[in-house]
Amino acid sequence: MSQLISIVLPVFNEEAGIQATIDTLLNYVEQQEESYELVFVDDGSTDKSVKIIKGAIAQHNNIKLVEFSRNFGHQLAITAGLQYTKGDAVVVMDADLQDPPEVIPQMIEKWHEGYNIVYGKRMQRDGETVFKKFTAKMFYRTFKKLATIDMPLDVGDFRLMDRKAVHQLLQLHEQDPFVRGQVTWIGFKQTSVPYHRQERIAGETKYPLSKMIKLALDGVTSFSTKPLQFVNVFSVVPFVSGVFYLGYLIASGNATPASVGITILLFTLGLLMLSIGILGSYLGRVLDQVNDRLRYIVSKTEGFEERNKGIHDFSARQINN
Ligand code: UDP
Ligand code: MG
Repeated sequence: MSQLISIVLPVFNEEAGIQATIDTLLNYVEQQEESYELVFVDDGSTDKSVKIIKGAIAQHNNIKLVEFSRNFGHQLAITAGLQYTKGDAVVVMDADLQDPPEVIPQMIEKWHEGYNIVYGKRMQRDGETVFKKFTAKMFYRTFKKLATIDMPLDVGDFRLMDRKAVHQLLQLHEQDPFVRGQVTWIGFKQTSVPYHRQERIAGETKYPLSKMIKLALDGVTSFSTKPLQFVNVFSVVPFVSGVFYLGYLIASGNATPASVGITILLFTLGLLMLSIGILGSYLGRVLDQVNDRLRYIVSKTEGFEERNKGIHDFSARQINN
């Protein structure tokens, strides 16, 4: 029996390009010997994305849709998508064709060689701003220094995972998951295939700066406590400066120059606020976890023959289905 490969595609307002993505993938799938299912996860789109996907479902029984009740974010859309897959291996990719399907056979080859996880390593990135490329590069390198996991550089969420890895990944119940970190964390045999990240086929990036910052913060706060130690280091700086300044005043016999005093005060205040900010980021994460709210809500599913057996996620709830 041929193997089943699931492709998970998170979608947020992709009406401009989603039809082209569907057509390209269907065309790709037809030429493969494995069977495929395409699992789209609509992350609260407000445009025609859902309508277009439903149109495709009416014609093809290997297309499926999971609809969120609102926008919960890319990382949770991936997590939810994984819940609904049945494949022997699962590939996660952008719904904008930035991750080319031609790379999938290379991933499958590595999987057949015995790797459980094969991620796409971006060798070149087209159509992205210099700012995005620069911040991404900085982030991955800083993250590597901070994190307790050895996450490979320049990998995103384009990857293949076998059933065993998917199963383990779904046991993690972080409220704000940083999926690529989690994937590294679970271990198993991992490798990469290089690829050329394409330009978006249509539409704008759905990752504005605010979402990029949130992703970066989730990544750091979930996989490193080093920034908390910075707080200790920072506190030494104003203390030492104060001691030296006092020494200077005594040695020089000068009267207190108010400007220098104010500078030190501002400096100290800045460090204090930064420290509180760092503490706050971690505390926020703890609070989210303690609240133990559902991570996402699925409002509807379409295209599944029956509710996938084995779906067992206490963080997801099905309504109106
Ligand atoms: N996406 C999502 N929810 C969001 C933001 C993005 O499901 O809140 C989807 C988006 O439709 C795309 C994928 O996640 O399929 C990656 O987003 P995008 O392509 O905008 O990010 P970029 O490739 O620019 O980093
Ligand atoms: Mg993209």
